[in-house]
Amino acid sequence: MSQRILTVALESDKDVVLVRQRARQVSRLLGFAKQDQVRIATAVSEVARAACHGGCSARATFVLVDTPARQQLEVTVSAGAVSAKGSEGAAMADQALVTAHRLMDDCELVGGAGFTVRTRKALPLQVPVSASQLGQIATELAATPDVNSYEEVQQQNRELVETLAELRERQEDLLSLTRELEDTNRGIVALYAEIEDKAERLRRADEMKSRFLSNTSHELRTPLSSIRALSKLLLDRMDGELTPEQERQVFLISRTATEMSELVNDLLDLAKIEAGRVEAQPAPVVVENLFRALKGMMRPLVDTDSVELVFDNDGIDAPFESDETMLSQILRNFISNALKFTEQGSVRVSVEPGDTADTLRFAVTDTGIGIDAEHLHLIFEEFTQVENPLQRRSKGTGLGLPLCRRLAELLGGRVDVTSRPGVGSTFTLTLPRHFPYSPPASTRDPEP
Ligand code: ADP
Repeated sequence: MSQRILTVALESDKDVVLVRQRARQVSRLLGFAKQDQVRIATAVSEVARAACHGGCSARATFVLVDTPARQQLEVTVSAGAVSAKGSEGAAMADQALVTAHRLMDDCELVGGAGFTVRTRKALPLQVPVSASQLGQIATELAATPDVNSYEEVQQQNRELVETLAELRERQEDLLSLTRELEDTNRGIVALYAEIEDKAERLRRADEMKSRFLSNTSHELRTPLSSIRALSKLLLDRMDGELTPEQERQVFLISRTATEMSELVNDLLDLAKIEAGRVEAQPAPVVVENLFRALKGMMRPLVDTDSVELVFDNDGIDAPFESDETMLSQILRNFISNALKFTEQGSVRVSVEPGDTADTLRFAVTDTGIGIDAEHLHLIFEEFTQVENPLQRRSKGTGLGLPLCRRLAELLGGRVDVTSRPGVGSTFTLTLPRHFPYSPPASTRDPEP
């Protein structure tokens, strides 16, 4: 439904000023904001100017349209007869349409004879204008005298000044926003630099730690070897008989030196791996041979009265490619741990195809004390030992499993563990059957 508000006849250029003034009044009375009033007045007067160009008579009709969503102000400017406007008139009409498009919600050139343009703008969100309010608006419009051109120019000037001031304010806002963004950017850049600096320092500290560990370990290895050799000489009675007390003491020295050597060896291995100085030497590995060698090495540790050490090959006969020394070191560590923490039952070393065709899975399963779920993720961290009654009895450094994990990574595989306290644990090593690509030696750090 639409209700007419006002019609303005456009006979001459003077009426363009009038229609501008009326458009502003109508939009003000309908509740449009100041800026929208200026937009509507400008769009309507531009279209009206194009319609009256060359002395044509036209009219502008202001209507309130009720649409289901919102009420709209619709202004239709139509010049009845087609006039010979020429190219200047056509350019003016095009310009007016562009302006109206930009300033109103909707603008269309209605087809047919003559020049008719219909533009619309939705009313602000508020209580809809009722018929009685519309009556009041019509009365008010009728009571408002027409202003003269001079006053309208003054009004336009005021609007221009206001718009300029607003523009300047926005520009200043934009400038301060840009400055704020620049500051934030600078802050972020500084933070990045700081993070990079910290990362570099951490890397250097890590390098220094590895170097320190390997140097210290080297320095300790020689005197420890001497202590072990000398105490062996004494225990072998090369320098004469020992009293029982002397023998006990020398044995203690020898055992402590052996434990320290193990610690130093583990530390050295870890430091070398961390410094990237250890490389796997892949070669064909046959499971049977590997298991036979392990059996020989581990036999002295097995208390055959209470624990059984079993090797079980589930059909892996074909040789696979890996570094046998590293692989053996990992399995030895799993087996010696399993024997340390199993008082009764068995330790089973097995191998079977992995989840994918190109992998193998070694497993060391024991029937020992097991590990609590809360400690499972800790045991691969350096120097971690879980408190338990067997722990005190057994030696250990807390470096075996971290070393296993690093060695497994060097072999292109990984280690995992599952365990139930009181039931036992299973440590697995998953390896590729073919050794993964390793970068040529020239791209690695040279040996010092
Ligand atoms: P170490 O054996 O020298 O103490 P590891 O890094 O090899 O060091 O093992 C860390 C800890 O993990 C052990 O001290 C022990 O508490 C726990 N652990 C390892 N293997 C087992 C196992 N098979 N059963 C129970 N606990 C184990």
